Amino acid sequence: MNTRARGRHVEVRVDRGLPTAFEASTPSPGPGELLVATRAAALGPDDLKAFEGCVLSGEFAGDVLAVGPDVASSLVGSAVAVLGYRPCARCHRCLDGVSTACADIGLRGRTIDGGLSGAVLVRTSDVMVLPPGLSHEQAALMHRVASALRALHRGPASPGEAVAILGGTPLALATCAVVLAAGSGRTAFVDDHAGCRAVMEHLGARSLERPSEASGWEDLAVWLGGYGADVVYECAGSAESRLEAVELARPAGSVVLLAHDDTPVTMDLNLIVMGAKRVRGSCHYALSDGRVALDLIARSLVNAAALVGRTVSILDVLADPEFLDGFTDCRATIVQWPASAEVNLA
Ligand SMILES: [Zn+2]
Repeated sequence: MNTRARGRHVEVRVDRGLPTAFEASTPSPGPGELLVATRAAALGPDDLKAFEGCVLSGEFAGDVLAVGPDVASSLVGSAVAVLGYRPCARCHRCLDGVSTACADIGLRGRTIDGGLSGAVLVRTSDVMVLPPGLSHEQAALMHRVASALRALHRGPASPGEAVAILGGTPLALATCAVVLAAGSGRTAFVDDHAGCRAVMEHLGARSLERPSEASGWEDLAVWLGGYGADVVYECAGSAESRLEAVELARPAGSVVLLAHDDTPVTMDLNLIVMGAKRVRGSCHYALSDGRVALDLIARSLVNAAALVGRTVSILDVLADPEFLDGFTDCRATIVQWPASAEVNLA
């Protein structure tokens, strides 16, 4: 059915843990808003967990269907990528220009509706027009590449420096692709997931299981140059991994914490004080990071293809709601949405 033709569209929400199609009224964009028809969205194994009721996917790109009364009509038909989060634009952090640390941030596909939908209402301030030649499928990777770029800004690895990445997550994979593209020297990836290690090896990182004994970490430090890594990007978020990240950074080195986790960490802060180490957090990304990410992908300066595990149609997703089961490595599943808006409800 062509739902859009009669003011209706299909959107895919998490219902009892499974992606489920619902028909909904198509909204009209208000001032400062755009209506976007998604054409490609990225999903990972975690996207179905604990986000009951939300439209899936915080990573998507599409075409502008309609614009609000104060928005240039020339944008209609433009291909755009959408920020994976929505800052409130009101709190003191947003007003100070630090919207990445917004106190009331909405996370698409998690706390607010995401993009696996035939019609998504977004603010003009939350979209980026795609550079020429970039596909919607490539642009759906913007979110994870931009998040990795933000981490690189927070804890820069200069060309030739030794880098370690801990934790088998999609963001760890994107970070690996970005630091290698930036010219990192010896680059190690540590995680117990064999599938993730194989992907990292393919990118060019040395991959190893998480050492169970101190001697294993010491061997890794030697391989990284003798004293540890110049920069450690910690993507697992566990208390153990955060402590290991600080220990693995060389004296005067840096640690960037990318993962959110509520588990308290007990740590001797003298590791940081006496080691003269720097520990910084990195969360979300700015619109400028998103634009750079799209440009790097368009110019093939980041190995975006290595971030994708498979590409499927939304029709395949609806035919097999358990399609994400068993696909657990850190690569994205790209879901394509047909341009015609022809989506059959299950
Ligand atoms: Zn805010």
